[in-house]
Amino acid sequence: MIPDFKKELESTNSQLLRFNRLETLQINLGNRCNQSCAHCHVQAGPQGQRIMSKSVMEKIINFLQNHPGLCIDLTGGCPELNPDFKFFVENVHEFASPLMVRTNLTVFFEPGLEWIPRWYQEHKVVVISSLPCYTPVNVDKQRGEGVFEKSVKALKMLNKLSYGSDNGPKLNLVYNPGGDFLPGPQEQLEADYKRELNNKYGVMFNNLFTIINAPIGRFRQHLEANGRLKQYLQMLAENFNTKAAENIMCRNLVSIDYRGMLYNCDFNQALGLPIIDAAGNNLSIEQLDDILTEGIEIITGEHCFCCTAGAGSSCTGSLIK
Ligand code: SF4
Ligand code: SF4
Repeated sequence: MIPDFKKELESTNSQLLRFNRLETLQINLGNRCNQSCAHCHVQAGPQGQRIMSKSVMEKIINFLQNHPGLCIDLTGGCPELNPDFKFFVENVHEFASPLMVRTNLTVFFEPGLEWIPRWYQEHKVVVISSLPCYTPVNVDKQRGEGVFEKSVKALKMLNKLSYGSDNGPKLNLVYNPGGDFLPGPQEQLEADYKRELNNKYGVMFNNLFTIINAPIGRFRQHLEANGRLKQYLQMLAENFNTKAAENIMCRNLVSIDYRGMLYNCDFNQALGLPIIDAAGNNLSIEQLDDILTEGIEIITGEHCFCCTAGAGSSCTGSLIK
């Protein structure tokens, strides 16, 4: 039987179940993507119809004007495929510290989007991209035929704009395991990635974030189809690490969906588990100010064990450095 995550967290420290302080606002601009990766937890693809409108963006901009200095983390789908992406970035970058965009890199080669890399540099955007391996075979298996080659081409374009160098804008990569196992040590993998990508392709980057596969979305379907879901959940629970639990990202992050609804994280958003008030109502960007000081309870479930297993996992990598 899979243990109750809430009880595990409570027995570590009951405060861990409560929101602490807003440091990062993660904004999901929609589920449209030019890729359809096997492990995608939001099940994005070219047909994605859940796209954030300009009116929701305006409400977020209004909030950020009153809360400058937050880390803004734009995600999707592929955030660049939102028709109002440029408008949004141009209006939030001055309030963000930093402004991060989770790009899939291959979008730079979509018709009419070739301006993006230079524009990122001009707007001091921190670029974060998934690259689940430094070999073409493993990347193409997870992310689609030809994705590795295009990703390397895009990384070289960014390097030419001084991304990935010690003094240039930050270029960070994300590793997630190619199956139902935990990632190796982040520091070691980063060293391996740097050596391999530099030696074979002349590519530079700043940091590697190791992320544990969440047992939701397409990865969950894959586990179920192979009769591996229970073992995977059990493995995550058996590797519960109190030190990782003390650093779970949802204590300092709020995630917003395309309609402006609030969640404790992108995983809860993908599962349809919104932040609710005492009366059980879903909350949206208009109510974000109200909950910042209340220490609201975080909505948890069995999927949360992916954040606390081993060295832990978050949108910026392992939780124990
Ligand atoms: S994992 Fe990223 S690049 Fe792949 S389909 Fe999902 S949103 Fe698109
Ligand atoms: S899955 Fe989300 S809510 Fe659960 S522990 Fe991780 S960040 Fe927190």
